[in-house]
Amino acid sequence: MTFAVHGLPVARGIAIGRAVLVVSSRLDVAHYFIKPEEVEAEIDRLRVARNAVAEELQKLQASVALMGPNEAPHELSALLEVHLMLLQDEVLTSGVKHWIVERLYNAEWALTTQLEVVARQFDEMEDEYLRERKADLEQVVERLLHRMKGTAAVLAPTPPRRKRTAEDDDSDPTAGDAIDAPLVLIAHDLSPADMLQFKKSVFAGFVTDVGGRTSHTAIVARSMDIPAVVGARSASQLVRQDDWVIIDGDAGVVIVDPSPIILAEYGFKQRQGDLERGRLARLRHKPAVTLDGQRVDLLANIELPEDTLGAVKAGAVGVGLFRSEFLFMGREAQRLTRLPDEEEQYQAYKRAVEGMQGMPVTIRTIDVGADKPLDGKSVRDDAHLNPALGLRAIRWSLADPAMFLTQIRAILRAAAHGEIHLLIPMLAHATEIRQTLSLIDFARAELDNRGTVYGNVKLGAMIEVPAAALTLRIFLKHFDFLSIGTNDLIQYTLAIDRADESVAHLYDPAHPAVLRLVAETIAECRRQGKGVSVCGEMAGDVAFTRLLLGMGLRSFSMHPSQILAVKQEVLRADTSKLSGWVQQVLEADDPASLLTPAPQ
Ligand code: PEP
Ligand code: MG
Repeated sequence: MTFAVHGLPVARGIAIGRAVLVVSSRLDVAHYFIKPEEVEAEIDRLRVARNAVAEELQKLQASVALMGPNEAPHELSALLEVHLMLLQDEVLTSGVKHWIVERLYNAEWALTTQLEVVARQFDEMEDEYLRERKADLEQVVERLLHRMKGTAAVLAPTPPRRKRTAEDDDSDPTAGDAIDAPLVLIAHDLSPADMLQFKKSVFAGFVTDVGGRTSHTAIVARSMDIPAVVGARSASQLVRQDDWVIIDGDAGVVIVDPSPIILAEYGFKQRQGDLERGRLARLRHKPAVTLDGQRVDLLANIELPEDTLGAVKAGAVGVGLFRSEFLFMGREAQRLTRLPDEEEQYQAYKRAVEGMQGMPVTIRTIDVGADKPLDGKSVRDDAHLNPALGLRAIRWSLADPAMFLTQIRAILRAAAHGEIHLLIPMLAHATEIRQTLSLIDFARAELDNRGTVYGNVKLGAMIEVPAAALTLRIFLKHFDFLSIGTNDLIQYTLAIDRADESVAHLYDPAHPAVLRLVAETIAECRRQGKGVSVCGEMAGDVAFTRLLLGMGLRSFSMHPSQILAVKQEVLRADTSKLSGWVQQVLEADDPASLLTPAPQ
């Protein structure tokens, strides 16, 4: 039966495919695809773990048998028997094998997937005793997962797919076998580290129950340029493994088990989107110049050095924001050292510089904390009540100077290979600025002492906290350029957690207070002849392009996938005619009502 689930649109377009459910287990499990030749070894890993757990349970049973009824009630022995039965259960074992063989899931993912399938069957049982066996099954699976920890295979993120042939019917996406169908990811939540893992894989779209428009999970989705909906509340409960799903990333709607008529309608929309993308692609080599001859820099936001490929392809004239923290995240799942050392970071930054072929690269120092935990686990589960207001970004770096110095040295060394701008996130206090600058000097001195070659960098600060936007004078004394992080500036100005879907309706980039802080930052930088750019999501939102141009902005940094649409707006704008309208917008109680249609 067809039904729809509503959420927040975060990445445009239509995706049609079979659902891959990533269930959240109490245990943190890695999700990755194995290679076909690794199937046997993966099944073996599972078998070894199952035998070990069986032995463990049998030993427990034996020790229970030796105890008296006061020490160990009879039920305990019966319970262990149930666990042993569940461990050997055919539905569980053959199901897990199915996900490994047919979908090339790693064993842990296959286990949690099958657990979810079976758990739903338990939920539907009439018999209360049987329904309660679900908890036992969960315990058995957790035992298995514990056993398998540390024996994970090396990451292989791209599953091989059967090529479509001329005989395949392209008009009906649901035709053909399941392995050939596009896959869409449905999860309760995905950490940015999980997203990174999926970034190189084949998913055609994704949906999460939680998250706001500018949560970091949504941001990574946007960088993947696949349709996505977040904050879809109960999607992961309502959708089942392998269901056909349509993700409408423009409207924020997820349609489950669509009828042929709905499928045809969305198939048409999908083709229209492809045509539009094809049309925009013609602008790739056109310089971004307004009708009145103002040159505008359209830069790329990237998460990994390899993203420079897409940035160059999209016509970016540099990287305006390299979110370096993604080099530090999800390392446990990849069995890497906890933090990348200086050499590893240096190589990564150098690759980014080389990837941009002589164009500048802005590297932001590590910004972890809040909704970007280092290793998958949610910071929100910790005792912190307000992680977004806690130890995050530069605060984190200043709290761990050795880690910060390692990163600065690596960036300075990479600057010997090309133009690097060093950007510091979330500064608010003059003392933080002083400490940061003296650590940068210290890193230079360390390299001098070592006799290591390094280059010059321009120094920039992000304006993400209202306190910073209100004390620009202090920032402009010390920095060569500023970059406005509107995602956080909105979060902190309006006191709205950007990752919380329950207040997403109040997260408003067009709030008069936000617009004023943005406009004043741009104006002050221009007055003082300092560079200024916007690198939050607002820069890639065409609804704001003319407003930002009218405020005097000439440098926009966004996901490569947004560059061409923004360029189209730039090419159609005449900045000499925008000032009156910008003034009206800035003075309005409801600026959003004046944003569309924007004047030429
Ligand atoms: C921002 O806050 O606008 C920004 C660009 O940084 P991030 O989204 O990584 O917090
Ligand atoms: Mg930020």
